[in-house]
Amino acid sequence: MAQVQRMSRLMVKTLRDDPADAETLNHKLLVRAGYVRRTAAGIWTWLPLGKKVYENVARVVREEMDAIGGQEVLLPALLPKEPYEASGRYEEYGDLLFRLKDRKGSDYLLGPTHEEIFTQVVKDQCSSYKDLPVILYQIQTKYRDEARPRAGVLRGREFQMKDAYSFDTSDEGLAEAYALHRGAYQRIFERLGLDYRIVSAVSGAMGGSQSEEFLAPAPAGEDTFVDCPACDYAANTEAVTFALKPASTEGHPAVEELDTPDTPTIETLAEHLGVPASATLKNLLVKVDGEIVAVGVPGDREVDLGKLGEHLAPAEVELVTAEDFEGRADLVRGYVGPQGLDKVRYIADPRVAPGTSWITGANKPDRHARNVVCGRDFEVDDYLDVVVVEAGDPCPACGAGLKLDRAIEIGHIFQLGRKYADTFQLDVLGQNGKPVRVTMGSYGIGVSRAVAALVEQTADEHGLCWSKEVAPADVHVVAAGKAVQTELALDVAGQLGAAGVRVLVDDRAGVSPGVKFTDAELIGVPQILVAGRRSAEGVLELKDRRTGEREELSVAEAIARLS
Ligand code: ATP
Ligand code: MG
Ligand code: MG
Ligand code: MG
Repeated sequence: MAQVQRMSRLMVKTLRDDPADAETLNHKLLVRAGYVRRTAAGIWTWLPLGKKVYENVARVVREEMDAIGGQEVLLPALLPKEPYEASGRYEEYGDLLFRLKDRKGSDYLLGPTHEEIFTQVVKDQCSSYKDLPVILYQIQTKYRDEARPRAGVLRGREFQMKDAYSFDTSDEGLAEAYALHRGAYQRIFERLGLDYRIVSAVSGAMGGSQSEEFLAPAPAGEDTFVDCPACDYAANTEAVTFALKPASTEGHPAVEELDTPDTPTIETLAEHLGVPASATLKNLLVKVDGEIVAVGVPGDREVDLGKLGEHLAPAEVELVTAEDFEGRADLVRGYVGPQGLDKVRYIADPRVAPGTSWITGANKPDRHARNVVCGRDFEVDDYLDVVVVEAGDPCPACGAGLKLDRAIEIGHIFQLGRKYADTFQLDVLGQNGKPVRVTMGSYGIGVSRAVAALVEQTADEHGLCWSKEVAPADVHVVAAGKAVQTELALDVAGQLGAAGVRVLVDDRAGVSPGVKFTDAELIGVPQILVAGRRSAEGVLELKDRRTGEREELSVAEAIARLS
């Protein structure tokens, strides 16, 4: 017996007009259809219909995480600062972190992600190689004081994430755990009905080496990625270090000496610079017209601004805040990363046309170079030209013209390696009786964001349009008329419910059929079953929400069809 939800008793208030401040489809439609309500900037309340969809997404995530052996736990969101101080992230996160004090004056934070705490949990619970490998996950509320919390539930300051962490004693074990998550993510996004691409990414503030993002193409997305129409190459423009092509090689020895007629690859660059290929853009300075404009250092290294300052004429540097930069990659030519923790210096360059993207690697406020010391980590003469990826640029894998697209980051998987294990000395006793340092992976899915991404990809001019897997109900029964219609609608709804079908039935009195139809389309349940004109004969009309196809059916036929 599935739930039969009566609209007459459901707390749902639909709106004819978009909320005044809404820019994105998910914001407009989820509010208009009564799924969510804005409580404050980037802070959302999930109303009954919204909560159902959210829970359906969470269920799919849980099922697939359980299927790869994940064990669900629940960590606190309110966290002591010490573990984050130990990892350096208490400082590194800067303004993104919500910080607070308790009554005794001790420092706390609201968790933005939980690598530190999971590492401590495993250190406490696992002592031998026999206790590993282990995959832990939670679906939990995260807090990030995003610079521009807009775009509805797509970018919240409070939001729900599924974060998983793998713990292994060997690199092969980590690779295996990574592959398991990659597969689980593919199944999750397929089941949810999201169109997505897997792209190479930079690991940014997380640290670690290999990292891939799951991107859902949509105009409302805040990431730009390149996609090859001819092969399977795809990368976030933040990570297209492979596609470096010299704009001009004159006077730039690092490029000049590369004896390759083709696009330099990361391997040829790395070889030239004498660094391992895994170093990506580390140790790279970027100059434009003789000026250092960027330090291509994704990750957690400090730029020594004092040293860099010698190379920058202050008059030529425009000071803008990190907030100004968010989402404006098209305006920014380069950056000199962080001065203090929140203010980042950027050089805005109007010569870069809108629609193109900046690619030195770390181009977000939470992605800036830290702990890099000039002279130790790079030499001032190691530089390359500024490169901008544009649509049509040759694919680094096959040479075909690249496409450039906007997308929503719905998931992100990282091979963290031993960064956090080193911080917290996470060792287990190895097979030979000696301690082994544990290696970790970290894997996130934006659960609330996935709901928004679904709306961005699937809604149409009439409203929301859910797939069966995530819809708040399987069938929306509409009583379009008076007593006869309502009686039939409730009767059919009851029978469907008894057959295990999740039903929403619009039994509201004093609401016109026109309004009910409009609401049904807006709410977006996949099948709409109308008790209308021919109700007295027991004939219903079934309408497919997506295709709009209609068909007349008897009660028995409708029940057989839908259950
Ligand atoms: P973004 O680039 O959009 O800021 P992120 O790279 O900072 O995201 P991660 O740290 O990789 O995010 O977190 C894992 C996942 O959590 C992301 O892939 C995304 O789906 C989700 N997520 C991150 N920030 C938010 C947010 N502010 N609101 C909703 N979901 C988010
Ligand atoms: Mg972010
Ligand atoms: Mg990101
Ligand atoms: Mg990410």
